[in-house]
Amino acid sequence: MSSESHSDLPEAKETQLCVSCMAPNEPSAHFCAKCGAPLTSYASTGPFESLFAEGSVYRSAVERPQKPIVVFGVWLIFGTMTVAGILIASLNLSDMDIWGRMIGVLIGVALVTVSATMIWKTTRNYLARKKTDERHDS
Ligand SMILES: [Zn+2]
Repeated sequence: MSSESHSDLPEAKETQLCVSCMAPNEPSAHFCAKCGAPLTSYASTGPFESLFAEGSVYRSAVERPQKPIVVFGVWLIFGTMTVAGILIASLNLSDMDIWGRMIGVLIGVALVTVSATMIWKTTRNYLARKKTDERHDS
């Protein structure tokens, strides 16, 4: 019994490097196992997969905001979502029953929570990064 019977497949010996973090990945992988960045063109064409690809763009914008324009973009997108959430939560149509109002409030609160978290995280990470850069300069 050979222990390498599973790794005899030729493709098992090859790896593809993640363009985002340089981690080696399975050649069949569509997304980096380490950072979640899309590895193949398939990853950015499939409808479900493009959601992940977009998620990784948002995630890198939130976790590693490098330019003020990125922070501004996050404020713009999620600021709009926050306002939309507040509007949805305060919808009070006369023909709405108690359940309709509760669902509206739940969706609105969820939108505001997610958006505010994204804005807060991006701004905090950007400011923390800026502070670190300034310390390196002096
Ligand atoms: Zn990666």
